[in-house]
Parts: sequence; structure tokens; C-alpha cells
Amino acid sequence: AASAADSVVSSAKKTPTAIPSDSVINLARGDPTMYQPYWRRMGDKCTVVIPGHDLMSYFSDPGNLCWFLMPELDDAIRRLHRVVGNAVVDDDRYIIVGTGSTQLFQAVLFALSSPQNPDTEPLSVVAAAPFYSIKHGNMGMSSFSSHVVGQPLILHGLVPHLVSYPEETEFLCSGLYKWAGDAYSFDKDGAYVELVTSPNNPDGTIREAVANREGGKLIHDLAYYWPQYTPITSKADYDIMLFTFSKATGHAGSRIGWAIVKDKQVAAKMVKYIELSSIGVSKEAQLRAAKILEVIAEDCASSGPDKEENFFEHGHRLMSDRWEKLREVVKRNGVFSLPKYPRDFCNFKGKDTDSSPAFAWLKAKDGLNCDNLLREFKIITRGGPNFGVDSDYTRVSMLSLDEEFNLFLERLAEIKGAANRM
Ligand code: PMP
Repeated sequence: AASAADSVVSSAKKTPTAIPSDSVINLARGDPTMYQPYWRRMGDKCTVVIPGHDLMSYFSDPGNLCWFLMPELDDAIRRLHRVVGNAVVDDDRYIIVGTGSTQLFQAVLFALSSPQNPDTEPLSVVAAAPFYSIKHGNMGMSSFSSHVVGQPLILHGLVPHLVSYPEETEFLCSGLYKWAGDAYSFDKDGAYVELVTSPNNPDGTIREAVANREGGKLIHDLAYYWPQYTPITSKADYDIMLFTFSKATGHAGSRIGWAIVKDKQVAAKMVKYIELSSIGVSKEAQLRAAKILEVIAEDCASSGPDKEENFFEHGHRLMSDRWEKLREVVKRNGVFSLPKYPRDFCNFKGKDTDSSPAFAWLKAKDGLNCDNLLREFKIITRGGPNFGVDSDYTRVSMLSLDEEFNLFLERLAEIKGAANRM
């Protein structure tokens, strides 16, 4: 096992450096550092300069229902969706910006559950397992006794999990809504909300609602509905759709997400929530997101889907290359298996493409605990029980830097021998 003296692989590093071969690799989080070399190659194309006197007001667009959304970002979001063809963004759809789609998820829960009728129970929130989740009781932090990952946390020996649906739903013990677990087994009468994540985190499957009971409302989390992860088969046209800059382009640190909402009242309540929790969303972050989304849309529109400059083309090539290598190693060592995904026609690329999800949903054969097995090889992942399934499954991020991913493959390839020795 790794010791506290082990080298640290920090996802926050600024320049690519060789990773010591005995480092612990943290693939438990979906931190999208993989795209950094692409954006470095783009040089100053996306640089934004903000003078000291600029962006000082709280307000961005006082005439708009979402008064803190910068018009530049609104335009860039709509343009990108039109170019990619992954969502309907007609003029009658409301766009709400949030501090990541994490804030928007909470805004939607508030919007769908308020005002509460005092005679009714809190609104049930469900998602089909396996869903974007962490084990209860961890409250977002998990302690690794012998593994050290991420410099600032060494002192505490704690590694933050990123948030998840159940935790976000239950965190404030709201009387408005409550987490009600797996949508497959949900059988209560009355109002509920089902979260549909498609492609799904953790297993990459394309999903539809499963509870299908009377009184249900749907939130579609489409964080991964972009051409580098999955074929774009139609323009999504749901009542409430969530997207995030984090997974679309890899700029998770900007904390920008957006919702596309049909109903004006729902949109207005979401705006109210964001007003009350943060009086809007950083304009610096919005401006940067607008610039980057504009550049991508322009590249896609002008150079065509098959040019290297096109971000999604680049991302898709990178992801399918990683998946091909991973499948090869998994096939050779015979210890694990991976899900198979149907090939489909991608409207954006104009041809059949394979899915290459942001996470590998790895299953260990012979009932082995997959997460523990990988930890012995200094690979940290997020085990199945965190997502409501057995420990022979684990979730591995496919979005790490090249150096980390290659080291992961090398170590995975070694596991066959070790498993045989056990
Ligand atoms: N939804 C899903 C399905 C995710 O995987 C993530 C990030 N892991 C989020 C939402 C949160 O995105 P953001 O960074 O915009 O808060």
C-alpha cells in the first residue's frame, strides 16, 4: 500500500511534469484536466482581459428574467447548442446561469417544491441506480489512512469527494424536498422529481425516466451530452435541462453551469434561489465561459467537424483512443470487464460513432472488491457501494492528464499476475 511519503499527483499543477512512477493516482474524481494540453495549444485565442473598472455592477441584463446572466454568455450558449445540435434553445426557452450545475440542481429543487402546501409531505427526489452519489455518512469527505492525494489536504489525510445528488438533496434537511432513493423501486403516490442523467454518471448509459408515475416532474442532467462522450442523436427538448461548462470544455474551475427551462414560473423561482444564495454568478467567470464557448462554436461552424482545431473532434479522438487502450488492457488481463455501448449515428459528426464515456464502470470478475484491488496498485477510484451497487464495480475517471492515464493503464496491466498470486 502507498505510504504518506508517497509522491503526490496533484490535479492542480500548472505545467505538465513527469509523474513519479510510485505515485498514488486519484481517479475517484471526474476532474477534467485531460483537456488542458488542448487549451494550452490554443494559446491566446481564449484569453480574456478585464480592466479594473469593468464588471462592477451586480446587474448584467436588468430586462431579462435571469438578470445576472450576461448577454454574451446567453448568446454563446445558444449558438453552441445550435452548432452541436444537442439541445433545443428556441427564443422561448429560458437560460439560467449558475455557479456550476451544482447550484442549479439546488435551484431546481427549490423551484419545483415551493411554495409548499403545509399539508403535504416534502417532495420526493429519486434517480435510477447507479446514480451520481456518495456513501451516506461520509458527508463529502473520505479518509485514506495510508494514501495521500492532493497537496493541500495532506495534513488532514482527507480527500474531498465532489458533491452528489443524495447529499445535495439532504444537506440542509429541507422541509421542501427529501431524497427518496432508487427510482426503480419508488412506489409512493403523490408529487416527486426524477433526475435523469444521460449519459449517466457513473456507467455511461443513455437513460430515460423510469419511475413514470402520476405527479412526476423530470430534471434532465445532460452534463455529458456532448460529442466527445456520446453520439448526438437528437436535440434534447425536455422541460428542465442542466448543462455544465465543467464537462463540456473541461473548465470546471470557472464554476459555470446553465439550465434550459421551458416554464417561466420555474425559471423565475430558480432565479430567486440564486438571488438568495449568491446574488447572481461571477461575471468574470461568465465572460471567460462566453469567450471559450464562442471560440468553440466558431471553430465548429467554420472548420467543419473533422478539423483538428475543432474542440469536440479533438476531445472525441482523445476519448476514443483512451477507451480503445483501456479495452485492450482489460481484454488482455482477464480480471475485469467493461460495459458495451451501442454505436450510433452522431448528427454532429455526420457518421456512426462509439460512446466514450467520461467514466469507466469497471467490474472485477470472481466477486473481487474492485476498488480495493486497484488501491493495492495505488489507483484510487470510487467503489460501487457509493452508487448503490455491489463492490465488484468501481468508477474510474477517464478525464485525467495523459501521464496519469498512462500510468493507470500500466498498473492495470500488471494486475493479472498479482491476482493470480493471491
Ligand atoms: N452533474 C453530473 C452528472 C456530474 O457528473 C457533475 C460533475 N461531476 C455535475 C453535475 C456537477 O457539475 P458542476 O461542475 O457544473 O457543478
